Amino acid sequence: MTPTGRPADAGARPVIDLHTHSSASDGTDTPAELVAAAAAAGVEVLAITDHDTVAGWDEAAEAAARHGVALVRGIEISCAWRHSSIHLLGYLTDPDDPPLMAELARARSSRSTRLARMVSLMAADGIPLTYAEVLAQVAPGATPGRPHIADALIANGTIRHRDEAFREWLGDDSRYYVGHYAPEPVRAVELVRAAGGVPVIAHPFTRTRSGGLDDTLVERMCEAGLAGLEAYHRDHGQAEVARATGLADRFGLLLTGSSDYHGKGKRNRLAENTTRPEVLDAVVAASSGVTEVLSP
Ligand code: AMP
Ligand code: FE
Ligand code: FE
Ligand code: ZN
Repeated sequence: MTPTGRPADAGARPVIDLHTHSSASDGTDTPAELVAAAAAAGVEVLAITDHDTVAGWDEAAEAAARHGVALVRGIEISCAWRHSSIHLLGYLTDPDDPPLMAELARARSSRSTRLARMVSLMAADGIPLTYAEVLAQVAPGATPGRPHIADALIANGTIRHRDEAFREWLGDDSRYYVGHYAPEPVRAVELVRAAGGVPVIAHPFTRTRSGGLDDTLVERMCEAGLAGLEAYHRDHGQAEVARATGLADRFGLLLTGSSDYHGKGKRNRLAENTTRPEVLDAVVAASSGVTEVLSP
């Protein structure tokens, strides 16, 4: 969000929201519900970017055609960097690229083991929770994540919103935190590029455990083919937008904006931040063309 609270590029046409989640990961809307909500919110170009999966793409594509929304198919890859997690958006990747798909499958499998370990640590400490309750919150084939633990605690009446669970038990600094396998950020950029896609760092300056992203890493990611930074995002204030703008000038990066909508799971509202049409054009031009933007 901009310092004034006004969405970046308010009034720009078409309305382009390049980062949203469905129940194929930790969003609460099904892919079809996500597209319907986007259409109702006036979004004209929507990207579906679930964590570590393309499982929502087909359902979203069918709904996008029905609702008259253009669809950018993408992913958000969790990357391990020192003691923090960096998220990389990959737009228009080939969903059949073996190396990228193998890496995402490995991450999803490790995420399941990790949730089971977190739940047993929490249950041992008296938090009323079972792994079966958590699994009941994960849609078939979806990427499991910490928000599903929160959803199980909402379902059994322990809390009312995911925020409470993250504050009390699920944060990166929590004693119940367990990591999962994730690729290193430079490797993730290379994988997205090799799959014909366009890599953009999601909310690059969100506060993480150890501060995370430094300029040297951004430079290395640029050398590997990084295309942009998601500058306009709820987790960024004026200082973070200025930092992203400085890096974009230095390395010739695109600056995107988006909501990071998660349905009822987060307070982020669709199109609260948006991307300029010429930036989307540059994203499309940088892709291999194997996966196209679906026009309504
Ligand atoms: P994981 O992928 O399992 O590491 O969980 C990280 C996800 O948790 C992020 O993608 C966010 O969507 C979500 N998350 C982080 N903090 C919060 C919060 N305070 N409230 C709701 N969701 C959150
Ligand atoms: Fe998420
Ligand atoms: Fe993210
Ligand atoms: Zn996200």
